[in-house]
Amino acid sequence: MKIISDIQELRDHLRGQNRASFVPTMGNLHEGHLSLMRLARQHGDPVVASIFVNRLQFGPNEDFDSYPRTMQADIEKLEKEGVYILFAPTERDLYPQPQEYRVDPPQQLGDILEGEFRPGFFKGVCTVVLKLFSCVQPKVAVFGKKDYQQLMIIRRMANQFALPVDIIPGETIRAEDGLALSSRNSYLSVEERAEAPELQKALKAVRERVIQLRDRNTQSISEIEKEAIDSLAKRGWQPDYIAIRQQSDLAPASNEQLQAGKPLVILTAAKLGKTRLIDNLEI
Ligand code: AMP
Repeated sequence: MKIISDIQELRDHLRGQNRASFVPTMGNLHEGHLSLMRLARQHGDPVVASIFVNRLQFGPNEDFDSYPRTMQADIEKLEKEGVYILFAPTERDLYPQPQEYRVDPPQQLGDILEGEFRPGFFKGVCTVVLKLFSCVQPKVAVFGKKDYQQLMIIRRMANQFALPVDIIPGETIRAEDGLALSSRNSYLSVEERAEAPELQKALKAVRERVIQLRDRNTQSISEIEKEAIDSLAKRGWQPDYIAIRQQSDLAPASNEQLQAGKPLVILTAAKLGKTRLIDNLEI
C-alpha cells in the first residue's frame, strides 16, 4: 500500500485510473470502516482510502483534539484489506491556505437533526468531501448508513454538482450486543459500554410502536418520540433527539404517511456521560 500525503503525488499515482473506488474516513479504523473497504473493492479498482480528522466539521467544544488517532494500527488493517493507496494528508497538505470557500448544504437537510445539535457540521463535512473527491477523482465512493443524514447530504451534493461519482451506501456494522461500531465508543467507561446497547434497543422499541400505530392508529408519532426520549433519560442518558422521519428527505413523518406505507427511518443521538452516540433504524 502506498501512503501519500501530498495532493500532487496522489494525482501522479492515480493518473489514468478511471475506476477508482474511494472510502473517506477519520481513522481509528474498526470493522465498520473495513466493511466499507470490502464494498469499495466490489465496485471499483483500485481502492483508495483516506484518513483525515477534519477540523472544519468539529464545533469549538467538540472532541477534535482528543479524537483517537491510531495511524500505525490503521495502516496495518488497510494493508490486510488490499487497499492500494492510503491518502493521509496533513492539515497543511489539504488546507494550505485557510479554506474560505465552503459547501453549504440546504437548511432543510443540513440544519436539522445532527445539524441542529452540531451547527456547521455538514458544511464542514461537505467541504472536505468535495475537496477529497477533487483530489482522488473516484468513480465511486462508499459511505456508511451509520451516518444516515451525512450519506443523504453527500448523495445530494454529488447530484447537485453533477459530480461523476456514484455514492454507495454500506450497512451499519454492530458489536454482538447491538451497539453500532464507532471510534467514539472508546470514550465509554466499562459501565457506560454495558449501557450503550440500550440506544439500539430504544430504536427497536420505537419501530414496534410505529408498526402498532400503523395497524391500530393508537398514538401519535410525536408521542412515540417523546416516550422513547423520556425512557432513555430515565436510564441516565441525555438524548438530543429520537426522530421518526421520512427516508426520502428526513422531513417529519405524519400518521397519514405512515398509513400510506411511506418508508420511514428512526434517527437518534444521545449522550452517555461525555460520549455522544448516534444510531438509526429503517422501518
Ligand atoms: P468516520 O471515520 O467516523 O468519519 O467514518 C468513515 C465512514 O465509515 C463513514 O462513511 C461512516 O458512515 C462509516 N462508518 C462508521 N461507523 C460505521 C459502522 N459501524 N458500520 C458501517 N460504516 C460505518
